Amino acid sequence: MILGGGVTGLAAGWASGLAVFEAESAMGGICSSYYVRPNTSARLPQAPADGEAYRFELGGGHWIFGGDPAILRFIRTLTPVKTYQRLSSVFFPDQGLYVPYPLQNHLGYLSNEVRTKALQEMLGTGKGSFRTMEEWLSQNFGPTLTEAFFGPFHELYTAGLWKQIAPQDAYKSPVDSAAVIRGAFETTAPVGYNTSYIYPEEGLNILAQRMAGRCRVQLGKRIKQIDLQHKKVVCDDGSETAYQTLISTLPLNKMVEMLNLKLDEAPDPYTSVLVLNIGATRREKCPADHWIYLSKTRSGFHRVGFYSNVDSSFLPKSSRAIKNRVSIYVEKAFPGGRRPSAEEVANYSAGTVKELQEWGFIEGAEVVDPTWIDVAYTWSWPGSRWRGAALKKLEELEIQMVGRYARWNFQGIADSIRDGLMVGAAAKRVL
Ligand SMILES: Cc1cc2nc3c(=O)[nH]c(=O)nc-3n(C[C@H](O)[C@H](O)[C@H](O)COP(=O)(O)OP(=O)(O)OC[C@H]3O[C@@H](n4cnc5c(N)ncnc54)[C@H](O)[C@@H]3O)c2cc1C
Repeated sequence: MILGGGVTGLAAGWASGLAVFEAESAMGGICSSYYVRPNTSARLPQAPADGEAYRFELGGGHWIFGGDPAILRFIRTLTPVKTYQRLSSVFFPDQGLYVPYPLQNHLGYLSNEVRTKALQEMLGTGKGSFRTMEEWLSQNFGPTLTEAFFGPFHELYTAGLWKQIAPQDAYKSPVDSAAVIRGAFETTAPVGYNTSYIYPEEGLNILAQRMAGRCRVQLGKRIKQIDLQHKKVVCDDGSETAYQTLISTLPLNKMVEMLNLKLDEAPDPYTSVLVLNIGATRREKCPADHWIYLSKTRSGFHRVGFYSNVDSSFLPKSSRAIKNRVSIYVEKAFPGGRRPSAEEVANYSAGTVKELQEWGFIEGAEVVDPTWIDVAYTWSWPGSRWRGAALKKLEELEIQMVGRYARWNFQGIADSIRDGLMVGAAAKRVL
């Protein structure tokens, strides 16, 4: 039995033939597209026949980057995809300034004074040891850039954890002295893990649906208890199902809680994300970027993505050629599980729309639809052994943990599918 019908669980179900138990009424987990007609609030699972709806995703824009060529081939056999070249910037609203991502490779966009100081700091000092993300960022980027961007951005992105947690995903803030120097005086080539990416022509949920077509998926089955002794799971509808092999894609902390495992280590922290999907009329100052990073916002969001700048199919049909509308996702991080009340979400939504209007990005908002990702980003305390201890314990209990949240590591869709296929195929051999 496989717990969770996100992309990892579906891949494992595809490769193994085991039943996939999914809590929600749709599969795909946070990689699920949905549609909303302008000036309505109902979420439609499919595009309406007349095409007059915005397309959004539950977890905000999900672009398939990286990935083993074999996995990308697997995805292409399921659904046609298009390839896109990343367009992304750091935006400083106070100055109306856009600096291409990554900031450190484009110092030529900053004032002479800031550029000179940043260059001296980045290249002039030796690197010491570091424990926290804050120490790693300050050492690599120096006080000027840390104060101007890296500090306040990571404060928002990690919901205040960056001064305590271990550094993670250095690849998101690449450090390359040659590129830094070149970028201070001339243009540099795009770098990073997502310079190009693919996206299914008919929307991301088609990928999940095609995988599910070859799986035995049971929807609306939220697992609330695992009885290890009798090898059965209990769902919150009261049903019980026996299993032989158990593969779980549920977040590691939730599994530890559900099984009431006693570990000597304090659990590692995580952050939740509120994604605000917005459909609006477009104004002239709306950038062409696919997404922008922000370090200072009144409403506290850290990234604004523009689905329809990636592909106009995210817009109602009548706007695709003239592009008089824009389809947007806005991400704000919260300390793990601290879900805001409905009133707080309503105030935040109104404040965010106002901010985007003040920047000249949008006119009227036709759709404002919040979605909540409970476990969105997983982090570690410096030197923590919690993750290793929890995974070991679950292995001893013969539960195989697979996927980004189950194994508490950062990975994208392609790698989640790869791991699901691998564990599913291995389970099939064993069975
Ligand atoms: C904000 C954000 C942006 C991202 N952007 C990108 C991107 O642009 N590109 C990219 O490649 N990756 C991106 N990712 C990562 C990507 O979302 C993951 O790699 C992928 O979704 C992991 O899939 P999963 O199946 O492991 O987890 P999930 O999608 O979380 O699936 C787990 C499933 O388990 C179900 N479940 C939970 N509890 C229970 C229960 N008790 N019983 C039964 N079922 C249960 C859930 O409903 C869900 O369907 C992003 C992640 C976040 C948070």
